[in-house]
Amino acid sequence: MQRAEWYSGARLTRVPDPGEVWRVVADAHAYWASQGVSPFDPEEAFARLGWETRCRSLVTADCNHNAMLIPLLNGGFVVLVDEALAQRAHPTRDAVRHALTHELAHTFFYAATAPPKRLLPLEPYEELFCDAFAFEMLRQPCRGLNEARV
Ligand SMILES: [Zn+2]
Repeated sequence: MQRAEWYSGARLTRVPDPGEVWRVVADAHAYWASQGVSPFDPEEAFARLGWETRCRSLVTADCNHNAMLIPLLNGGFVVLVDEALAQRAHPTRDAVRHALTHELAHTFFYAATAPPKRLLPLEPYEELFCDAFAFEMLRQPCRGLNEARV
């Protein structure tokens, strides 16, 4: 049973400017540390939220979706991860961790309603923020960034 109420580390009603990413990351790290998820691990975070992660083939016309969120009617999300990405990422799973953290950042733009409702329209700038958030949150090597873009 999903809970309608949830909090994933931030709730944002506008896309933060690049200079504000560090603040969102610091708040999210503090929140997840308070939940016992430290160092931050996106798979553990999704598990704590009760949000299922599933591997699927996400091949699309633009070939840019390594992961995606599916809002659930009764609250929360299912998180789909492209199975090819998951296989490529073995054994470090850096790209999967980046993709999951990027999707976590998208959840900041949803109200905790059932189903979750977006607080603002999706715009390309949000994708840049989610990538920057994931990069800073995980502090992973730059080599993983391009293949993890979703
Ligand atoms: Zn995205």
